[in-house]
Amino acid sequence: MEPPQIYVERTLAIIKPDAIDCADEIEEIIYRSGFTVLQKRRAHLTPEQTSDFYAEHYGKMFFPSLVAYMSSGPIIAMVLAKENAVNYWRELIGPTNCFRARETHPDSIRALYGTDDQRNAVHGSDQYGAEREIRFMFPESIVEPIPSGQAAKDYLAKLVNPTLLRGLTNLCKQKPGDPITWLADWLIQNNPNKPCVNDKVEIVEP
Ligand code: GDP
Ligand code: MG
Repeated sequence: MEPPQIYVERTLAIIKPDAIDCADEIEEIIYRSGFTVLQKRRAHLTPEQTSDFYAEHYGKMFFPSLVAYMSSGPIIAMVLAKENAVNYWRELIGPTNCFRARETHPDSIRALYGTDDQRNAVHGSDQYGAEREIRFMFPESIVEPIPSGQAAKDYLAKLVNPTLLRGLTNLCKQKPGDPITWLADWLIQNNPNKPCVNDKVEIVEP
């Protein structure tokens, strides 16, 4: 039987200005929840940048105060990767309104670190916005779908498995005390793509 396919997805998380002092604790929750942080940057957005980021809310009553709040201090933006990352992160942060979060999702990040219906500690993309928001915060990043299924198998079979298999065989022979560090070192030494330095360089005298 075919093993179930795993789709790794990316989402954008932001630690908002009101929660910046709790950033370490929130990042700890992110790591403990099994996310991989692919990219991270600290930024202080201008009101113009904030308006662009939240363009979907333009014209709503809360828009001006949202822009003032989000540009009032530094934020930390992170690209998180995990299976079903968008929904999982939104589940973890809880409802938009912190008062409601405390009632219905008392363990959520917004219940724990948010203040009110606006200052809610963290942002999470929704399914339609993730790609645009990642590009907004990390314009240099290439948002390609992470290969899955057969494409992932082909990629690993061609570029990773042959080297990894040699490394793992050597690892089993050596049985080092710290196998992960040993394998990491072995891979650096045996990286087939590293530049080949020829030490028999002929020096041509002028
Ligand atoms: P989110 O996706 O859960 O962050 O919620 P939205 O996309 O609907 O709103 C974006 C942000 O605007 C929220 O995270 C809040 O900071 C703020 N916001 C949303 N609704 C309200 C509201 O009714 N009043 C106020 N003051 N701020 C709001
Ligand atoms: Mg939203």
